[in-house]
Amino acid sequence: MARLAILGGGESGVGTAILGKQKGYAVFVSDSGKIQQKYKDVLENFGIDWEEGQHTEARILTADLAMKSPGIPDAAPLVRKLRENGISVVSEIEFASRYTDATIIGITGSNGKTTTTMLVNHLLNEGDEHVGMAGNIGDSFAKMVAENEYDTYVLEISSFQLDGIVRFRPHIAVITNITPDHLDRYGYQFDNYIASKFLITKNQTSEDYLIYDADDDVIVDWLEEHPVKSKLLPFSIRDEMGEGAYLKDNQIVVRIDNNTMKIMKDTLALEGKHNLKNTMAAATAAKLVGIRKEVIRKSVMNFQGAAHRLEKVLKIHHVQYINDSKATNVNATYYALDSMAAPTVWIVGGVDKGNDYRELMPLVREKVKAIICLGLDNVKIKDTFGNVVDLMVETFAMEEAVKVAYKIADRGDIVLLSPACASFDLFDNYEDRGNQFKEAIKNL
Ligand code: ADP
Repeated sequence: MARLAILGGGESGVGTAILGKQKGYAVFVSDSGKIQQKYKDVLENFGIDWEEGQHTEARILTADLAMKSPGIPDAAPLVRKLRENGISVVSEIEFASRYTDATIIGITGSNGKTTTTMLVNHLLNEGDEHVGMAGNIGDSFAKMVAENEYDTYVLEISSFQLDGIVRFRPHIAVITNITPDHLDRYGYQFDNYIASKFLITKNQTSEDYLIYDADDDVIVDWLEEHPVKSKLLPFSIRDEMGEGAYLKDNQIVVRIDNNTMKIMKDTLALEGKHNLKNTMAAATAAKLVGIRKEVIRKSVMNFQGAAHRLEKVLKIHHVQYINDSKATNVNATYYALDSMAAPTVWIVGGVDKGNDYRELMPLVREKVKAIICLGLDNVKIKDTFGNVVDLMVETFAMEEAVKVAYKIADRGDIVLLSPACASFDLFDNYEDRGNQFKEAIKNL
C-alpha cells in the first residue's frame, strides 16, 4: 500500500487525508501544533492515523508522497528532508486535481480572490451549472473531490498552494492583480512571488485560458518576458481590448471569439473600480463555461458580496459605516478609498508588512477628513499623513475608535475601516476585527 504523509492537520490536511484514504493510501497526518477537535473527530471517523505536537520523522520519511499545508514554508527542515529523500512534496490542490476530470477555474492574485471566486460561483450556480467552490473558502478542494462529483470547480488559490503543484492544470486561470505581499516567504524578492502566482499557467496548453488585469504593469511586463501557452483574455477599465473585457459607453463589454456581451455598469451590485475588474474577470470566466448572457447580466445585479470587504454596515444619523477589515495591504485600501464618494473618516493601522503608504497620498488628500489610527504602533501612519489631514487621533481598541469616529463624522460622511495592515496586534484575525467593528457600531 502506498503511503501518504500529510503535514498539517487543518482544512487542507484533513481533506487530503479523506481523499487519500478513499484512493487507497495508507495515510498519516502529522501536525507540530494542536489539531482542532472537529478535525480529530473526522480523522478518527475515517480511521486515519494522526499525531500532534510533533513530527515523527522516522515514520514520515517512509512516505511515497507527502502533502504539506500551505502554512508550512518550503524552507521547513522536515520539508527539506523529505525532498532530499526523493519524496515528492505537493500541495492539496495538486493532490486533489489528480482525482477529478471536472472543469477547473483557478483564481489567484494578491487581492480580489475571494470576491471573484464567490462571484464566479454565483454566476455558475444561477446558470444551473453543477459547481463546487473550494480552496481558501470553506471546504477544501480535496474533501469536495472525495465526496462529490461536480462538473466544475471554482478554486481560490494562494501562491503557497501554487508552490506545491506538479501537474495541476486549470482550464481557466484568473490572475486578478499582483502587488507585493507575503514577501517574507519569497526571500524578499518580488520576482519570486510573481513567478509563484504565474505557476497557475505552468501546465496550461493552447486549449486553456488566462484571464488577467491588463492595467496591471507587473502582470503585463511579466507576460512579455515569460509568454504562456494559454489563450489570453485580458480585462481593462482603461483601454479597449480586442478579446477579453473592457469598458465602453458605461458598459462592460466581454468579447470572446467575436461574440460580444454587454453589461450596464450601473446595474452592478458591487461598488468600486476594483469590483468592476472582479466582475469583468468573473463574467469572462462564466461566458467561457457557457453561461447565458441573460443569466450573467441578471446575476451580477443580485450578487451579495462577501463580509468584511467594503461591507456596508449601518447608516447612523446619515453617516454610512463601511467594514473593509479584509484590506490587509495598501493596495486593497487604495481601492477602498478610491471608491469613497463622500468625505471619509478613515480607521487605519495594525501590523504593517512593510507598507509604503505614499501611494495613498492623493486619495487621502482628496477624500479623507480625519484619520483614526488603530494599532499598537502608529508611527509610520502619523509620519506619512500627520500634515495631510486636519485631524488625527490614536486609539488602541475598536470600541474607542468607533466612538471617536462617531463624534468626528458629520451628516453625509462615511466612516471607513480599511486598515491596510494585518490584525494580529489587537485582534485574533481580520474577521474578529470586522466583527468587533460591527458590534461597536451597533452599540453606538
Ligand atoms: P483576497 O481573497 O485575494 O484577499 P478579497 O476578495 O477577500 O481578496 O478582498 C480583499 C481586499 O481587497 C478587500 O479589502 C477588497 O475590498 C479588496 N479588493 C477586492 N478586489 C480587489 C481588486 N481587484 N484589487 C484590489 N483590491 C481588491
